[in-house]
Amino acid sequence: AQAVHAPHVVVLTSPGVGHVAPVVELATRLAAHHGVTTTVVTYGSSPALASLPPGLSTAVLPAVAVDDLPSDAHIVTRILTVVHRTLPHLRALLRSLLASTPAGVTAFLADMLCPAPLAVAEDLRVPRYVFYPSSLMSLCTLLYTPELARTTSCECRDLPGPVLLPGCLPLHGADLVDPVQERANPVYELLVRLGLDYLRCDGFIVNTFDALEHDTLEAFKELSDKGVYAPAYAVGPLVRSPVSSADVAAGGRRCMTWLDEQPDGSVLYVCFGSGGTLSAVQTAELAAGLEASGQRFLWVARVPNDMDKCASYFGGDGDHDDPLGYLPEGFVERTKAVGLVVSEWAPQVEILGHRAVGGFVSHCGWNSALEAMAAGVPVLAWPLFAEQRMNAVKLASEAVGLALRVTPREEDGVVPREEVAKAARELMAGKKGAVAAGGGAEGVGAGRAGAPGARRRRPDVEVCCF
Ligand code: UDP
Repeated sequence: AQAVHAPHVVVLTSPGVGHVAPVVELATRLAAHHGVTTTVVTYGSSPALASLPPGLSTAVLPAVAVDDLPSDAHIVTRILTVVHRTLPHLRALLRSLLASTPAGVTAFLADMLCPAPLAVAEDLRVPRYVFYPSSLMSLCTLLYTPELARTTSCECRDLPGPVLLPGCLPLHGADLVDPVQERANPVYELLVRLGLDYLRCDGFIVNTFDALEHDTLEAFKELSDKGVYAPAYAVGPLVRSPVSSADVAAGGRRCMTWLDEQPDGSVLYVCFGSGGTLSAVQTAELAAGLEASGQRFLWVARVPNDMDKCASYFGGDGDHDDPLGYLPEGFVERTKAVGLVVSEWAPQVEILGHRAVGGFVSHCGWNSALEAMAAGVPVLAWPLFAEQRMNAVKLASEAVGLALRVTPREEDGVVPREEVAKAARELMAGKKGAVAAGGGAEGVGAGRAGAPGARRRRPDVEVCCF
């Protein structure tokens, strides 16, 4: 009789913690609940792959040069160019896995930025899926990009009306992903191509859940039943569970010890994801605003960058400057009774799970959004790049009601100190926090129980074990 081998899945992930971490979470659950082994294929090493659970192995594709691209090429242009140029290596790798792994390759999953390689899996007759680590609504907007390009000619921020996609919230053109905001940029065409490449898959595996995107899932199902798109499977929220404070890695333990000394629900946690970067002016305004707000805060600070809002996305340019050196003179000293500023990185899942944290200033990366939901911490939405504006719309929507939004100045896009202070107070202690985002009695988390800083643990958000 033939031996039965555990199914083997190959997942290709684009760079960046926000992409690699949910893949690791997915693979961990596939192993634990379904006995599936996974090979995670990456375009470089990632801290998210530092310690791997059993059943997971990794393969790194060889580096390819992209130094012929213009120095100001969009980050997505860079990533998609790497994806394209590594296709022959991926083909060789898949071939060798097909030949050498007992179960062959049961399915090939490609991350949201790498649907082009689905063609390779198609050639090799391997079932193929897109693993989409963000919302189904944002996937719908990417699938819509070819039509947007074909049926409109203006910049999408100038569209005469909202973008209305089946089952999705109405979106302003400016809330679509940032690579489609400038038609003349070569990245625009690449996004159109991406939208078409998605059509090669047998299904979309999406880091979302029914209670969050019920209408979108229903509408998508109707479309897939009609054969417009492959089906979408909601497998989220793929968020890590917090470890105990004692198990937090040494670098992050200072945050936990400091939080232990703060009152319940009193601390505003400020972090712009794994790579979000503010300009020097914005950093100064944020600091002054936090100070003026009188709120307790824990701020993960980065070295400012005036050119690029995602400068640290791949670990920055290797300069190990201390971000604290870029804060306003005397800021750390003046605020030390109420604030803690840490450099570059903090144990976010554990921080959000700490009883002292009552609010989260977030760039609204999808992982951060899901982590805030799972922990029941209300958000001050401060989107920077990628699909974060759309995520902010979702979090602030009446149905989710977990976020207030900051309003940048029209002339330069900077969120001034007065706005930071006002919004921080509102989220942590204000009445408006209780009614604004939730549209009535619900409100953002702060106001739900009528007590400022009280958490709102959403009963329908469970870490899923599909
Ligand atoms: N993260 C963290 N500590 C930090 C910054 C980020 O643990 O100081 C984690 C965060 O918990 C989340 C991920 O990194 O899981 C960031 O992903 P997200 O989608 O929010 O944003 P991105 O980094 O992709 O912009």
